[in-house]
Amino acid sequence: FGDVDDPVVDLSAITPPAATDPQSWTRSRLAALNAQFEPRDPQVILQWAVQTFGSGLAQGTGFGPSGVVIMHMLSEIDPSTTFFYLDTDLLFPETYDLKDELADTLGISITRVHGGATPDEQAEAEGPELWNRDPDRCCFLRKVEPLQNFLAKRTAWVTGIRRDQSSSRKKARIVDWAPKCEVVKVNPLATWSRKDVWRYIIENSLPYNELHDRGFPSIGCIPCTKAVDGSGYSRDGRWDGTDKSECGIHT
Ligand code: SF4
Repeated sequence: FGDVDDPVVDLSAITPPAATDPQSWTRSRLAALNAQFEPRDPQVILQWAVQTFGSGLAQGTGFGPSGVVIMHMLSEIDPSTTFFYLDTDLLFPETYDLKDELADTLGISITRVHGGATPDEQAEAEGPELWNRDPDRCCFLRKVEPLQNFLAKRTAWVTGIRRDQSSSRKKARIVDWAPKCEVVKVNPLATWSRKDVWRYIIENSLPYNELHDRGFPSIGCIPCTKAVDGSGYSRDGRWDGTDKSECGIHT
């Protein structure tokens, strides 16, 4: 992996002058940034993001392997970065355990973002097991809306999206504009493969969700996540038996 102080990268030359102004993120500016970042290591991209957005930057994670890698990289660049997760109240116990272990191991604090309604309150308002009847509505209430509210006070959002995760993510850009949340979206691992991610985790002795060793390539909420027999994409096993492949925060 490259050195974050790589002298080939002139960070000042690619730092946008008006990072918080949505008007400055034109299509041509994003295209120029993406062309520069395409061959770069994720650490360089994250260093640029930290320098550009400062306290406006936040990494969101569901504690999947990509998120763990980025948390580690960001904690080495600036441990005071805002790290957050969307707590749907329906995550696996192993996921909550991993959150605590990562906070301890990396010396960071991880903010809980929550929609406000418990599953029981949601059942009262929307009927029981909304995730079975209308998973898009359930994801909106428990993920998309809380995310929008949280990011309303931020300027940039770091995610673990990779192009090899699913057919819907094949064209993910490294830097993009997220219109739903009105922030710049930074995907530093867009060009990495699943193998790259696991190599980094092993080489750096990082903790990971033990469910991955039990056949879960991707881990979300308990009602919508299944173990699979082998997997083509890293997100196999989510919303099994439906057309749904995204919760809506990235679409
Ligand atoms: Fe609801 Fe399932 Fe979406 Fe979680 S993943 S918010 S349970 S529909």
